Amino acid sequence: MIKRILVTAGPTREKIDPIRYISNYSTGTFGYEIARAAKRRGFSVTLVSGPTMLTAPKGVKFVSVESADDMRREVLARIKKTDCVIMTAAVADWRPKHCARRKMKKPGAGLIELVENPDILAEVGRMKKETVAVGFALETENLEKNALKKLKDKNLDIIVANRLTAKRGVFGNKALDVAVIDRFGNRTRIFNKRKSRLAEIILDKALKFRIH
Ligand code: C5P
Repeated sequence: MIKRILVTAGPTREKIDPIRYISNYSTGTFGYEIARAAKRRGFSVTLVSGPTMLTAPKGVKFVSVESADDMRREVLARIKKTDCVIMTAAVADWRPKHCARRKMKKPGAGLIELVENPDILAEVGRMKKETVAVGFALETENLEKNALKKLKDKNLDIIVANRLTAKRGVFGNKALDVAVIDRFGNRTRIFNKRKSRLAEIILDKALKFRIH
């Protein structure tokens, strides 16, 4: 039975030097909406969030992180006590290999060497037994095919596929079209819904999901 839900949200920031970082445009809206909806339904909710402008929903255990490494540590420390993980965070794919101790000087272009960040959700997928794992896939092409591949590669139970188009961004609380796909091949396509409404639908699907 699902009692404890962990949600990741927001971007991560990967430090270049004391005043600069690599990040992305994620606002955190989806994750905060999911955490809010789960709390409203009476679950014990932990929200592990990168830097956003949002206020944590009332009653949610809020864990503030900056980098992918921080997020990984906080998620993995809690995973055994979690019945359902919903990973909406836009984790930066790369980080600078070294964080300079002092402000880097010009000319510095081409001097920042990047390394891959850990894939937190893939690690959760490898560790999990009874935990329901929900991931998000943001794609510009071959949306459902790529999402399905991610679902399998990361051993997820559900993936929410989200199309990024020039006309219709995905950041902020705009209406979106998404496809929700589960590991048994069930697909639901949902059109033109705001993230607050989608949060309820995704939660319904995660809560109904049976591992066996
Ligand atoms: O592989 P991709 O980044 O498209 O996968 C997206 C899903 O994986 C999201 O649910 C995201 O939160 C999660 N993820 C993660 N750690 C990463 C990259 C993605 O948890 N380093």
